[in-house]
Amino acid sequence: MAKYSSKINKIRTFALSLIFIGFLVMYLGIIFKSHPIVMTIFMLLGLLCIIASTGVYLWIGMLSTKTVQVLCPSCQKPTKILGRVDICMHCNEALTLDKSLEGKTFNKKYNQRQL
Ligand SMILES: [Zn+2]
Repeated sequence: MAKYSSKINKIRTFALSLIFIGFLVMYLGIIFKSHPIVMTIFMLLGLLCIIASTGVYLWIGMLSTKTVQVLCPSCQKPTKILGRVDICMHCNEALTLDKSLEGKTFNKKYNQRQL
């Protein structure tokens, strides 16, 4: 089975990379110090990325309240499920809250249908 990471982890990685991109873009702006307009554009773009990542972090916070905590049947550790199907944070075991999907191969489509 292909490796999937749990959805919340994925979103968190995305938010983190947005911050890095933001700082990188702002750093590029410093290189163009002699061109104030170019520098301002880079600074604004960098700032936008950082603002966007803050928004994503807020979104994670909201999503976290909707997750269901379960004990993973595979590794016996508590993990969180978001949506109908998700992946155990510890062992990448496919988990579902929907009895009709139990035993079926993990498929990302199940989530898309719900959204
Ligand atoms: Zn597990």
